[in-house]
Amino acid sequence: MTEIFTGSFTQQEPIPEEAIEAAVEVMRHGRLHRYNVLGDEAGEVTLLEEEFAAQMEAPYALAVASGGYALATALRAVGVKPGDKVLTNAFTLAPVPGSIAAVGADPVYVGVTEALTLDLEDLERQLSVDGHPRVLMLSHMRGHLCDMDRLMAICDASDVAVIEDCAHTMGARWNGVLSGRHGVVGCYSCQTYKHVNSGEGGLLVTSDPEIAARAIMLSGSYMLYSRHRAAPGPEVFERIKYETPNISGRMDNVRAAILRPQLRDLEQQVQRWNARYRQVEEGLRDTPGLTVVERPEKEAYVGSSIQFLLLDWREEAVREVLRRCAARGVELKWFGTPEPVAFTSRYDSWRYAETPRLPQSDRILAGIVDMRVPLTFSLADCAQIARIIRAEVGAVFQEG
Ligand SMILES: *Cc1c(COP(=O)(O)O)cnc(C)c1O
Repeated sequence: MTEIFTGSFTQQEPIPEEAIEAAVEVMRHGRLHRYNVLGDEAGEVTLLEEEFAAQMEAPYALAVASGGYALATALRAVGVKPGDKVLTNAFTLAPVPGSIAAVGADPVYVGVTEALTLDLEDLERQLSVDGHPRVLMLSHMRGHLCDMDRLMAICDASDVAVIEDCAHTMGARWNGVLSGRHGVVGCYSCQTYKHVNSGEGGLLVTSDPEIAARAIMLSGSYMLYSRHRAAPGPEVFERIKYETPNISGRMDNVRAAILRPQLRDLEQQVQRWNARYRQVEEGLRDTPGLTVVERPEKEAYVGSSIQFLLLDWREEAVREVLRRCAARGVELKWFGTPEPVAFTSRYDSWRYAETPRLPQSDRILAGIVDMRVPLTFSLADCAQIARIIRAEVGAVFQEG
């Protein structure tokens, strides 16, 4: 009997009842705009920022309209100007180089290793030339953290500011330090497929008062910045308020109301994701031809998706695995496809920047197979999915 998986890879869990009630309450009173508050009422967005700052162990936090907006705001707030070059990952998703393009800057790609993290040797090489970029937009793509201690040492030595794209690492840690707290700014997405779900939404955190003040002004605070709580004092805003444009991208009180209860549950959700991740990982281990991506001991990850490598496989053989798995209900994504499909594109698809080929990264990208692990899957589902992948990879591998 051939097993077929019937679950949906894009179905997230429902919004918690408590969050639905909080959102309905905002709609009942009608004060959806974050600065539309009564008397000394803080408003949901301000409370969300205060709670998120505490949770991320940061003094300052800002909620915005999307993760991509948070990235572009971080770039502007650290002083990136049109025409500047910004380092970023060759292996990431389109909104990351897109945020660099949004501020008129040019992405410069750093390669990817077999651990699916930024190639620190390539980074060092690119930083060894005069006039190298001053900012690294570091994407923790699919939740994989590079050696953050080494990365920060490299970037500090070259005076490079690090912005962290934590769209897949909200709640993760490297060596005990929360993802988003190594660099100067940490950015998060609250879009449906990430770790908390408000449809759309973004957050950023920083310890730098001037960057925090600029980000708040940039997000569209007019001269209402004193309403923020996870924010620096008015003297900091005085210094920057005339030179910082308002580029509206605020979050609203409905989304914030939806997010606050979810953030309180984050730790528990991380445990649930990781139980599922480990179930799939265990089922895939020792499959001939398939490389499991081993996670470093210092990395406390969030297994909301899983990747494996079919390294040095023929393109047609990878396609055959994807076809066979799809026929059995297992939806895999492949970063090796020459033409970008749905969410998967890669550095050579982002042709607004002139980019040399990265042959070492091409070899790895050609082997990356990627799968979502939504919390609507049971552990038994995960075990079944792993059995299906294992059987189909095995069958194709045997055929050669
Ligand atoms: C989703 C995502 C973003 C952007 O987040 P949005 O909220 O969709 O704008 C940025 N980086 C990565 C790696 C993502 O997956």
